[in-house]
Amino acid sequence: MFKRQTSGSVVCSSCGVLVGVNDPVCYNCNRRNPGLWGFAPAFRRLGQDLGFVPLVMGATIVLYVLSLLLSGGGLQTMFSPGSRVLVLLGASGSIPVFGMGRWWTVLTAGWLHAGLLHIFFNALWIRQLAPAVAELFGPGRMVLLYVLSGVVGFTFTSVAGQYIGFLPVIGGAQLSVGASAPIFGLLGAVVRYGQRTGSSHARDVGLQYAVMMGIFGLIMPGIDNQAHLGGFVGGYLGAVVLDPLKPERVDHLVGAVVALLVTAVALVASVVTVLPLLMR
Ligand SMILES: [Zn+2]
Repeated sequence: MFKRQTSGSVVCSSCGVLVGVNDPVCYNCNRRNPGLWGFAPAFRRLGQDLGFVPLVMGATIVLYVLSLLLSGGGLQTMFSPGSRVLVLLGASGSIPVFGMGRWWTVLTAGWLHAGLLHIFFNALWIRQLAPAVAELFGPGRMVLLYVLSGVVGFTFTSVAGQYIGFLPVIGGAQLSVGASAPIFGLLGAVVRYGQRTGSSHARDVGLQYAVMMGIFGLIMPGIDNQAHLGGFVGGYLGAVVLDPLKPERVDHLVGAVVALLVTAVALVASVVTVLPLLMR
């Protein structure tokens, strides 16, 4: 699948003009190594064929099942992994980030879920929104927006939990997991898309969903509103930088792969750093 092209021409990873696959510099934008050593076409195919949407869904579900297995069954924990297991796998919030120094959990928490309904509704939203955002921004930029808004959302809630944790509703969380931060990020990106392109339909749909889910979060107990707010802000600002009027470049797909790899490293770091504590 990840085949290297050794002859002929490819599109430059930065500006999109045709260049020779072995050209050292793009004649149009002066980017060095515009063909990514012949791997640029492979990255483009990765975005189209493999699809990041099933990848996001698949990884989320696999991690949920793993968290259940680690929780060891029993009727009570049958569909809800315990807090200890969630911390092990990379739950975020003021306790892991400030209390335990596990700052990298802002990357991992968005991939973990606390219960069956939690993952069910988030999976429905991902299935609805991720392909739409991939359509508007390209699959690579969708993943970048997803990862970024998770990071911003869990940073918001961890900082709030640490410093204004006594406040109701906006006090952040001591412990937080769930894809709703990146989901709000995708909504923020849709709103920004609407503003930037003049599509009032996209803007209105994004805002309607965000307000609807936001109000739901304010009413229901135990919802992490700071993660929602931070996710929305992260996705919106990310979409300002990743201008939807400009086409997606191979560089974005490479960035998406790097973001996912860094997330995987954070997940491994979460597990590995807890193991010595369990051995004692
Ligand atoms: Zn170029």
